[in-house]
Amino acid sequence: MLKAKTALVTGSTSGIGLGIAKSLAQQGANIVMNGFGDTEGAQAAIRALGVQVAYHGADMSRASEIEAMMKFAADTFGRVDILVNNAGIQHVAPIQDFPIEKWDAIIAINLSSAFHATRLALPAMQAANWGRIINIASTHGLVGSAEKSAYVASKHGVVGLTKVTALENATSGVTCNAICPGWVLTPLVQKQVDAKALAMGLSNEEAKKQLLQEKEPSMQFTTPEELGALAVFFCSAAANNVRGVAWNMDGGWTAQ
Ligand code: NAD
Repeated sequence: MLKAKTALVTGSTSGIGLGIAKSLAQQGANIVMNGFGDTEGAQAAIRALGVQVAYHGADMSRASEIEAMMKFAADTFGRVDILVNNAGIQHVAPIQDFPIEKWDAIIAINLSSAFHATRLALPAMQAANWGRIINIASTHGLVGSAEKSAYVASKHGVVGLTKVTALENATSGVTCNAICPGWVLTPLVQKQVDAKALAMGLSNEEAKKQLLQEKEPSMQFTTPEELGALAVFFCSAAANNVRGVAWNMDGGWTAQ
């Protein structure tokens, strides 16, 4: 379905981004990857699906590096047809104790990076009259949780940016939508499981159960594969007129 298309997925060396990159590659899209950690392993996993892969190590907190990454993608594949703004970080602390540098980093990586990548991807999408921008927000783009001020602010911002991007391109073939996952058991969430286990003297399994119990009626983690399938739907012709939604996949979290 996505043969001859190019998808750039930020933060695609791990977790949700890697899952979405796999799903898009399974549909034939060439992938530009980004992120830290096991960059070689992540590239190999996508290459094994038979598509072309390129990697750029831009730090998503820096506008100049995002500019370099978008230029690299255009130079390598011609243009970016599908942009998935996924890179994100978390920090948990009450507002009065929230480290200023953590606030700045979360706003830069979770929110401003999506603005920069979007503004740089749009002209070529508009010229081609086809494009898909998929922003990975969160249930925290729709509701709040204590001790996550920067994250909740950034994700509400991402949902707002999604709506404006969709509206500005509403008469074209360029769509923009957000995905709002509940708990997904990635390294980002495992850190929160570990913190809970330590603070409450729980086992890993008990801490995971508690985390789910607090928020998700389904008592199940959403998987990167399920989120990848939703991203593929947004890229399909059936989603041509899906514009500016914030689609939760959250086990009932925000239905309460
Ligand atoms: P993860 O920690 O597994 O992956 C994060 C990715 O972002 C990694 O590839 C990492 O290298 C990259 N990254 C981090 N900082 C970066 C930077 N400065 N520059 C470039 N890349 C950077 O986390 P995840 O759970 O897969 O999270 C992915 C996205 O999904 C995030 O935006 C997160 O907020 C969102 N999300 C996660 C959950 C969840 O439960 N895990 C729920 C809702 C939303």
